[in-house]
Amino acid sequence: MTHTRVLIVGSGPAGLTAAIYAGRAQLNPIVIEGEPSSTTDQPGGQLMLTTDIENFPGFPEALTGPELMARMRAQAERFGADLRVTKVQKLDTTSHPFRAWLTDDVEPSITADTVILATGAKSLMMNVPGEERLLSHGLSTCATCDGFFFRGQEIAVVGGGDSAMEEALFLTRFASGVTIVHRRDSLRASKIMQERAFANEKIRFAWNSQALEVLGEDRVAGLRVRDTVSGEERVLNVTGIFVAIGHVPNTTLVKDQMDLEDNGYVRTGLGSFTSIDGLFAAGDVQDHVYRQAITSAGSGCIAAIDAERWLEAQGL
Ligand code: NAP
Repeated sequence: MTHTRVLIVGSGPAGLTAAIYAGRAQLNPIVIEGEPSSTTDQPGGQLMLTTDIENFPGFPEALTGPELMARMRAQAERFGADLRVTKVQKLDTTSHPFRAWLTDDVEPSITADTVILATGAKSLMMNVPGEERLLSHGLSTCATCDGFFFRGQEIAVVGGGDSAMEEALFLTRFASGVTIVHRRDSLRASKIMQERAFANEKIRFAWNSQALEVLGEDRVAGLRVRDTVSGEERVLNVTGIFVAIGHVPNTTLVKDQMDLEDNGYVRTGLGSFTSIDGLFAAGDVQDHVYRQAITSAGSGCIAAIDAERWLEAQGL
């Protein structure tokens, strides 16, 4: 069994930035990176599914998501972070030190004075043929990240909630036209977002349309949909598809132990403090609003500083 002062769970920008800061504070953090279980779930988090990143400050010539994560990893290792490609199976935060199991042994693998939870969130996916293959090749889950690459193109946004309206409105800056593909005939989005979408000349609606297949070999070449009323199928001629049907925070490890928001995200108060003393949360597991690499990295920095000060206050 290993004891650490800082255990970081997650290896996206939040976890690795926390590791860089905790490492530089000589806290020798252990980072549990996760392990690949599918194309959409792997160490490094959502950025591993992103192609070019042009809005991370300091990289004027864009870099890919995996490159950015490799650099953050290297930087964390340089300051002594112990990075492990494995998963936390169970976390017990009911007593100090916290206990983490990496296997199904009875004894915990790691005890920790503090835990920084940076397990991120997952975009809900449509689960239709072609979707996984063309993710990052014309199919995206983040308009702020990727919209710029679709200048002058026809785009479909799937979903009928506020996220879909927001993504569609943002995408009208670049696209020649945006079609919102919704499975019903009325939107879930708030009135104000609906009105903005209805008022935008570039936005059209495909009502009662269920996505069936993402078409294209190497890049998106269309979206096949079925009319849920008539049963008719048709192809929308789009070269970009944005899936905006919601996100789920990865809270399985802690959801029965701590306060969550009504929408399931970890509730943080000032900075990264949670309802559990010594447990800090950073990145998308506690942020359902901004969800950017840079905001996530910033919150990882905050969590490491909070953990460091907490340890000092406890005399640890
Ligand atoms: P959401 O409100 O849960 O909406 C998800 C949408 O996706 C719904 O329209 C749903 O259809 C559709 N959907 C779900 N699963 C689907 C599937 N398998 N295939 C096709 N469509 C599917 O999620 P959200 O839009 O991400 O918003 C989450 C929360 O954040 C909400 O509380 C929202 O108000 C908030 N938010 C606010 C803003 C803002 O105010 N600017 C921006 C973004 C998000 P149905 O309607 O038929 O269920």
